[in-house]
Amino acid sequence: MKRLAAFLLMLVLLTGCAPKQVSTTVFAMDTVMKLSVYGDEAVLDEAEALIHQLEAQVSVTREGSELYSLNHTGSGTVTGHAKELLDRALALCSRTDGALDISIYPVVRSWGFTTGEYRVPDEEALASLLSHVDYKKIDFDAGSGAVSLSPDMEIDLGSVTKGYLSSCLIALFRENGITSALVNLGGNVQALGTKPDGSLWQVAVQDPKNDSYLGVLSIADQAVITSGGYERYFEEDGKTYWHIIDPATGAPAQSGLISVTIVGTDGTTCDALSTALFVMGLENAADFWTASDDFEAIFVTEDNTVYITQGLQDSFTLSEDHSKMELQVITRD
Ligand code: AMP
Ligand code: MG
Repeated sequence: MKRLAAFLLMLVLLTGCAPKQVSTTVFAMDTVMKLSVYGDEAVLDEAEALIHQLEAQVSVTREGSELYSLNHTGSGTVTGHAKELLDRALALCSRTDGALDISIYPVVRSWGFTTGEYRVPDEEALASLLSHVDYKKIDFDAGSGAVSLSPDMEIDLGSVTKGYLSSCLIALFRENGITSALVNLGGNVQALGTKPDGSLWQVAVQDPKNDSYLGVLSIADQAVITSGGYERYFEEDGKTYWHIIDPATGAPAQSGLISVTIVGTDGTTCDALSTALFVMGLENAADFWTASDDFEAIFVTEDNTVYITQGLQDSFTLSEDHSKMELQVITRD
């Protein structure tokens, strides 16, 4: 009897101590962001402030942001998170040998992807814009945050900001003693720990061809970040043009891939690589993965084959209505 009472008391205490789930939705960076945390509500206010602060620093359209004034005057200083993000982004441009190039912005704009006024740019104008694209010409002092751009160059961190942000949010939650949380920034997901009951988070991966799920990833303590042609595109004369640009040509990347999902512990890396490996195409992306040890990937090709790297064999499952799709595993040997 005594034992039963002790057990019941423990059960009550345990249930009483279990952190509650608190959630919020924030609209920022043109994205619906959902934050879900097992812990104290107050941390969500801090998280929201962090999101708005980063957006105010790195928005390329908001007058007065650090990036806006840098782009409009050719020089300036980035501080705090913007400095860290620029530093990380430049390292990833270099790691991907320019498949990611944050100075592609004027080219992206000429296709109308920044305003929604889509058009196929004139060839000569495009060649002229492309001649100014080269991340190596960004003069950046990581100590002071001083940046100077070569003439007619403008930069945009849109390809890496959400991944950087999700990692910052997870770090903020961890600092506040939280052990279980999930952030979903417009389909880019990052998890802290497991679910409170110890089970893995189930993250859906979008089918790039339909409004349905390709499959599900079971993860803990990881980011899952996707770049897909379907996310932003327009059609003209029967051709589809999407927002991921090959810096070698200035045109939408025609690499044979239609979506790339990167899974790893660091959000910034995953975001940068989702864009860069889309540009590289399957073969180069697979070689890049073979030479790396900090991420796994899912590739979907335009002929509708799904390739996963070997580290995802046990964590990725095709959804029921996609179970007939061809699934290939990329291995290191
Ligand atoms: P993401 O959704 O992370 O793949 O980022 C795509 C966005 O990054 C686009 O909307 C462009 O603003 C920008 N972008 C497109 N191509 C590149 C590229 N090759 N390198 C860096 N940024 C790019
Ligand atoms: Mg990206």
